[in-house]
Amino acid sequence: MTDGTRPNADPDSESESDPNPVPDALSTDAVATYLHCPRRYEFAHAYDLEVEGDDDESSIDDRVDLLRTAICDALRRGEADRESLLEAARNRLEALWDDHDERFHSLAQRRHERRVLEATLEAYVEAVGAEHAAGIEALASDAGGGELIGPNLPLSSTISLPERDGDSDGAADTGAIPDSVAVDATVDYVYADGSSVVGVRFVPTLAPLGLLRYRSEWEGDISGQFTDHFEPDADAFEPSFVGALFETATVLDGLRNRCARLGLEDRTCRYVQIPLADRSRTAVNWVRETVETSLETMDLTDRYIDHHTYGMTHEHRNQTVDDRLARVVADLVAGAFDPTDTGRWDEISSEACPDCDYTVCCQDYIAAEVRFDG
Ligand code: SF4
Repeated sequence: MTDGTRPNADPDSESESDPNPVPDALSTDAVATYLHCPRRYEFAHAYDLEVEGDDDESSIDDRVDLLRTAICDALRRGEADRESLLEAARNRLEALWDDHDERFHSLAQRRHERRVLEATLEAYVEAVGAEHAAGIEALASDAGGGELIGPNLPLSSTISLPERDGDSDGAADTGAIPDSVAVDATVDYVYADGSSVVGVRFVPTLAPLGLLRYRSEWEGDISGQFTDHFEPDADAFEPSFVGALFETATVLDGLRNRCARLGLEDRTCRYVQIPLADRSRTAVNWVRETVETSLETMDLTDRYIDHHTYGMTHEHRNQTVDDRLARVVADLVAGAFDPTDTGRWDEISSEACPDCDYTVCCQDYIAAEVRFDG
């Protein structure tokens, strides 16, 4: 995935010294950052300001990457039966683990973490791996050699930007706002499930999905919470939940584009996340030194599509989410980075600031703290 900002390719649209180049492509991670706090997006993606992250989080991400690579490499070998797929994935994980540089408290902890990864591989193959391997094989014969297995297969959705009312912010004044922006996402592989093409992405956990884990369709609570997030007078402030719906919109549109290139326009598209670092389902027997776990997979498609748009287009879309994504991206591209100007400063300061890595350099945070102290 990109870092979220690529400089605009048009040399007339920005100078080299422009500190806020108008991006012509954004990652879904960058959009999710913007939802948490526009200033955080500015630091992380417009200025590329790097801060030391949480060590635990980066270790978990690294281990998920090991599993991601081991599974994708095993799938690429074309092993469709359960035992062969598991053996190929285990062998690949063993090689990757030997080169894995991570500090552990002890050798016992290192052995334990390896056992957890192996148990996760087993759970993956048991739950969906063999079925997905067969689906990849089925899709490969229709896809004419198109790339189906990553890790990190790129997908892209082009968003047409709506006009912003009374725009007087940053880049908008320069006339550099483009008509459209690409939003990029990735999946780790793509397989066929009946008449659907399914994109699968490995994630650490499903926790950021929030309510999406506990409801099965858009109509009702999901729709209500999504609308409330953008309502200044409502209590809901759910940037991760909204970000997941934006990501689903992007992945499904990116899959449609990929299908069109492969001559598979007649397929519907679906998006599934699989968590590889969810310890809540892991049971450890410390005496026998064994680990068992299971996987919960999450198809986000039905949680995203609304029946009205589906009835109109026969495609897996949601007009409400798609329109809102375009408006958020338009704000971002126009350089609307002031979090106190969002109508949600109370929520940002109470829910986003406490976990933010940029507090030491953030004028909005410092000003609020000084006001509070005074
Ligand atoms: S400290 Fe708060 S206001 Fe500043 S960037 Fe972080 S979340 Fe945004």
